[in-house]
Amino acid sequence: MAEIIDGKALAEDVVAKVKTETVRLTETGVTPGLAVVIVGEDPASQVYVASKSRRAKECGFHSVQHSLPEETGEEELVALVEELNADPAIHGILVQLPLPKHIDEGRIIQTIDPDKDVDGFHFINVGRLGTGELDSAFVPCTPAGAMLMLERVRGRDLSGLSAVVIGRSNIVGKPMANLLLAANATVTIAHSRTKDLPALARTADILVAAVGRPEMIRGDWVKPGATVIDVGINRIPAPEKGEGKTRLVGDVAFAEAKENAGAITPVPGGVGPMTIAMLMANTLTSAFRKAGLEPPA
Ligand code: NDP
Repeated sequence: MAEIIDGKALAEDVVAKVKTETVRLTETGVTPGLAVVIVGEDPASQVYVASKSRRAKECGFHSVQHSLPEETGEEELVALVEELNADPAIHGILVQLPLPKHIDEGRIIQTIDPDKDVDGFHFINVGRLGTGELDSAFVPCTPAGAMLMLERVRGRDLSGLSAVVIGRSNIVGKPMANLLLAANATVTIAHSRTKDLPALARTADILVAAVGRPEMIRGDWVKPGATVIDVGINRIPAPEKGEGKTRLVGDVAFAEAKENAGAITPVPGGVGPMTIAMLMANTLTSAFRKAGLEPPA
């Protein structure tokens, strides 16, 4: 039976460390500052943004939230981001995605100062990660959190291990593959055009699922003893809980996969909680760098 990697507990460890280091930094006169920007009324985004701002306050950060109406113009949003770029009290800027359709998301992301881009989506940070400059990059929070979970069971050096990442998005699949490569794993990226995915998955010592398809990865796709990291978060109907009720499941059929895996992340309570914790860690890193101090490891 697989070890269940507890993302909630690990996220609390990360946040506890961030709190301690924030106290240390604040004593030098620098308080980490995080600005979260949201445009429009998307309910899921509202929930994410509220929990990010709440976590930031809990960490002892200077936390600012800008909630703008749906009809906000692109130039207005660019101007706000530039204002935050210039604000010395702000070390991290997060613009919640998706943005309304009339705004060019790419332009907004590239307007963020790369040194405040705690989401790690700016080309400069993508390039730093891609070239293995991990000490100066901001790494996207979800794959960074997934790597920390993996480190708990496999250690930091993945030499000799094969990793298969299913999904090639810019926010999860690609940065995850780069992080695995930087940790010396032998990495394959799979996607919707990959042939015989189950056979490929079965070769993986480390199997990462970032697809967005409920329970697509079945138990017999998992090599015995493999570490399975399930990034997927999918809401499906749960009539057993009552009419109209729903529940969250991952991209991996957990009950089956845990019979084969050596270790596995659950959904919920796996990679999800790690994402916000890593956002706090990135903001703290940014504040340390700005203060000319070595960020905590
Ligand atoms: P995207 O939709 O951007 O990417 C999905 C990827 O899966 C694509 O590369 C796509 O291939 C691939 N894919 C789709 N269908 C198949 C298939 N049948 N077989 C193989 N590959 C397939 O999703 P994201 O990367 O943004 O998110 C992935 C999942 O992770 C989602 O469930 C999302 O909710 C979750 N997520 C969780 C976060 C967290 O905090 N834990 C944060 C971000 C995302 P192709 O490129 O060929 O289309």
